[in-house]
Amino acid sequence: MRPEALNPLFAETDSLDGVGPKLMRPLEKLGLTRIKDLAYHLPDRFVERRAVTDLDAAGVGENIIVALTVREHRASAGRGPFRVVCEDERGTICTITYFGRASYTARKLLPVGEMRWVAGKLEQYGQMLQIVHPEHVTQSAAEAMAQAREAVYPLSEGLTQGRLAGLVAQALVLLPELPEWIEPSQIAKSGWMAWHEALPEVHKAKNEPARDRLAYDELLANALALMLVRASNRSQRGTPLSGDGSLRAKLHLPFALTGAQARSIREIEGDLAQSAPMLRLLQGDVGSGKTVVALSALLIAVEAGRQGALLAPTEILARQHYETLRQMLEGTGVEIVLLTGRDKGKAREAILMGLVDGSIQIVVGTHAIFQDSVSYRDLALVVIDEQHRFGVGQRLMLARKGRRTPHTLAMTATPIPRTLTLAQYGEMEVSQLDELPPGRQAIDTRVVSLERMGDVVGALARHIEGGQQAYWVCPMVNENENEDLAAAEARYATLRERFGETVVLVHGQMRPEAKDAAMERFVAGEARLLVATTVIEVGVNVPSATLMVIEQAERFGLAQLHQLRGRVGRGSEKSTCLLLRSDKLSETARQRLALMRETQDGFRLAEEDLQLRGGGELLGTRQSGDTPFRIASLDQIAKYLPMAHDDARLLIERDGGLDGPRGEAARLLLYLFERDWGVQLLRGG
Ligand code: ADP
Ligand code: MG
Repeated sequence: MRPEALNPLFAETDSLDGVGPKLMRPLEKLGLTRIKDLAYHLPDRFVERRAVTDLDAAGVGENIIVALTVREHRASAGRGPFRVVCEDERGTICTITYFGRASYTARKLLPVGEMRWVAGKLEQYGQMLQIVHPEHVTQSAAEAMAQAREAVYPLSEGLTQGRLAGLVAQALVLLPELPEWIEPSQIAKSGWMAWHEALPEVHKAKNEPARDRLAYDELLANALALMLVRASNRSQRGTPLSGDGSLRAKLHLPFALTGAQARSIREIEGDLAQSAPMLRLLQGDVGSGKTVVALSALLIAVEAGRQGALLAPTEILARQHYETLRQMLEGTGVEIVLLTGRDKGKAREAILMGLVDGSIQIVVGTHAIFQDSVSYRDLALVVIDEQHRFGVGQRLMLARKGRRTPHTLAMTATPIPRTLTLAQYGEMEVSQLDELPPGRQAIDTRVVSLERMGDVVGALARHIEGGQQAYWVCPMVNENENEDLAAAEARYATLRERFGETVVLVHGQMRPEAKDAAMERFVAGEARLLVATTVIEVGVNVPSATLMVIEQAERFGLAQLHQLRGRVGRGSEKSTCLLLRSDKLSETARQRLALMRETQDGFRLAEEDLQLRGGGELLGTRQSGDTPFRIASLDQIAKYLPMAHDDARLLIERDGGLDGPRGEAARLLLYLFERDWGVQLLRGG
């Protein structure tokens, strides 16, 4: 049960003044559904505005607050802007300009003859000074002065800064005072303020210690939760699994295992033979051959007369895993099924029945395989094809389906910098596929300016006409999803005009059936070109696709580019990756793309990406989705994670775990950051 003290923070956003269904939509898009989400919706930056009485004292391009008296309203003919002519104290003229259908607003806010405080950016238009769409217009000097420094928040369509700031302010008033969960000496050493002071503070000004404190909270919550998972796992009784190898011997693999694959399988076998449940991470770059390792592990469970499950992050991947495994299992007599959220009615019931009576030995699916309505006869092993950005712990909770705790194998294709491995996987055992199957050729990677689109399409045409397949990836970023989607659709339309029926489109907002149909046409080779947003990022395996075009490559993280590039170079043919870049690139962006050209070593890319992004690019870091953290930046992770780990360990090993007084506070922290699966484990174990 969540401690009562936190209830105000978990109240729904629509309990605030002025929030109705219409406003909820853009808020939900930003994930701001509860009071606490708003309080933790941190500003990207602050605008500073200077209050002036005299426009001559202000520079063009400056953000100002100025008292202006309205002289005249000027509507233009047709679709021209609506202008409000004003003057300052000394008679200097300044026009306030509104585009679109804003004349009603303008007349209401700025009546002729009245004085108003106007906040906005001063610009020059011909000979005239102007402010276009001022950010604030108020009657009160006090209110105007409060706008001298303002937070700039990440927005979604349908929200304004003012609206969002108002809601955040309402949320901050509701913060309870909570007991301190950080080690007192740490607080003293860093000079940090209390949580309920730090949170409002970071909305007011760029306050690094306050922000660090909040980041530390998040890191501590994560470290604690992972430690609890680990401790609970150690105390659990699982069942040792040992197979006789009979099924594995029947597999018809078209290749010999690499040394790394064989070693990983041995490590897994060793873990499974123990009575403490396995908690192992299989880390291997794209194309390193994790699937067959997963299958071997699953077969050990089946050989031992029990059941195994493979959890995939998306439908497409679940389907593909299922197909691959089914083919490999032909002739073994192993019963394998696919279960996703889309299975309904009789078909679904038959599967559920088979899982309960044990006639189905392996199930592959999305999170649907762990819904309450699904029970297993004897689930002994769960393989999680991890999309690295989800916390493992939560998945582990999902996995608690068996009578006894099942063994868990998590897989990740993302090379994680060492600093982050600890954050994400705590103290899991790790097997590494550090060797690619033989015969892989380097992918020829080139950075091409968007201006050379004609050449790119020409090369694509030769490629397709030569009988090969290709991917074309368009960026999709949360904050301008609609624009990005439109751009992807427009690209699809032009490519389709050129290449006809052989082009298919896949994006996240399509109906799953349509998405699968398009994917299937591509996998079957009927479609030659797959235009996609990043849904193909993880795991899709089409060895005959040998060309990858990535549009606006500079907008992707290196890790993501690496994943995408890994979709090609999977067969024996030479593969090419074209990174299309815009003409204006920052120095960092240039370096990052150069690095992609230089190396195909995922670990090196991950480490260097961390270096390159360093400080400054806080925004990019936070939204890149490369870490399980919302608040802590890569820098803060690097700086504070080891401390958070030590702090967590001390609390658990020396200070009485979650039962002492600080433990009570730590419990609040776990709930606050929704790592309460840690607490639940403790209770269950
Ligand atoms: P991952 O999931 O690690 O990205 P996959 O398991 O999808 O990689 O394997 C990538 C490709 O390599 C597949 O086509 C697979 O059949 C092939 N493969 C896997 N192991 C070997 C091996 N030892 N030798 C040759 N090819 C292999
Ligand atoms: Mg895979």
